[in-house]
Amino acid sequence: MYSVRCKYCGKRAVVSLRYAMLNLCGEHYLNYIISKVEKTIKRYRLVERSKRLLVAVSGGKDSSVLTHVLWSLKSKLDLEIVLFHLHLGLGEYSNKQERAVRELASLLAARPLIVVYAREILPGDGIPELALKVGRSTCSVCGAVKRYLMNVAAMAVRADAIATGHNTDDILAYFLKNLVFGGEEYSLKLTPRTEGLDGLAIARARPLYEVYERETLLYAILSKIPFVHEECPFRPERSIEEVNKDYLNRLEERAPGSKLRLARRFVSMVTGSESTIGEVLACRYCGMPSRSGVCTFCRLTSRVYGEPLGPKAVDIIKAKILESKT
Ligand code: SF4
Ligand code: ZN
Ligand code: ZN
Repeated sequence: MYSVRCKYCGKRAVVSLRYAMLNLCGEHYLNYIISKVEKTIKRYRLVERSKRLLVAVSGGKDSSVLTHVLWSLKSKLDLEIVLFHLHLGLGEYSNKQERAVRELASLLAARPLIVVYAREILPGDGIPELALKVGRSTCSVCGAVKRYLMNVAAMAVRADAIATGHNTDDILAYFLKNLVFGGEEYSLKLTPRTEGLDGLAIARARPLYEVYERETLLYAILSKIPFVHEECPFRPERSIEEVNKDYLNRLEERAPGSKLRLARRFVSMVTGSESTIGEVLACRYCGMPSRSGVCTFCRLTSRVYGEPLGPKAVDIIKAKILESKT
């Protein structure tokens, strides 16, 4: 019986990439994704100066794949990688994530791995408890806390950039949402590399910018890396992003390569556009970026705990970094 063969070795193909007109076996598929990420890093100059990257690894498929791929490219690109995991206090889900991250780090013999627990910074609370106390959705508080703590860690290790696992589908779904509902200024930040703010915020790099979500899943399965398969229990049902992803997948089905073309077009559309984020000041408590002189994290924690916890977070993270070096 006829079976499709890998373009490179003639073995039975396990994947057919229609947009690239490529049939690949498992081994050559993994190599293909690694080389795609390498090209993205070079094409968009994702690592500019020190080559030190803080890789934010959640234990989900995308950031685990990102870690695995960057680790494969580490020597070739002369990268220095610091793994950072934030335990968000989302019950058993967060425990599973932490276990997956620790397993991945030990599989790769990757060091240092810095693990920070939300509960040690927010006195005994995880993200859901903090969200309840401030009367905001768990996801919006979670996003703000993650951004803040990642930036603190990246500043402390003097990283050139924070690498996150956003894939093509994530970025396009968010971009379409902002286009329809407003918030274009946030889309401007979702390019493969978003510059930081001198002395205040570290740049963001998105090496999986041109890797589709289905491709990261297949990479995670074929490379047998540990990752948490289930969704976060706090993830909203049928979010606008999910609807956009369905639409984008239907478009891709009908016209292979559409998502890639749209992602590249997006970069050329926003390149040179002025950010309308406005003036950014150092927080008077913790020194992190803010609009008003007090950052979101210090404002939230002052309201709930009666004191800004930014300085405590900075101290805890610095201590963990020192500890990881011993
Ligand atoms: Fe945080 Fe919401 Fe993502 Fe869960 S789904 S990890 S609560 S942002
Ligand atoms: Zn092959
Ligand atoms: Zn602050």
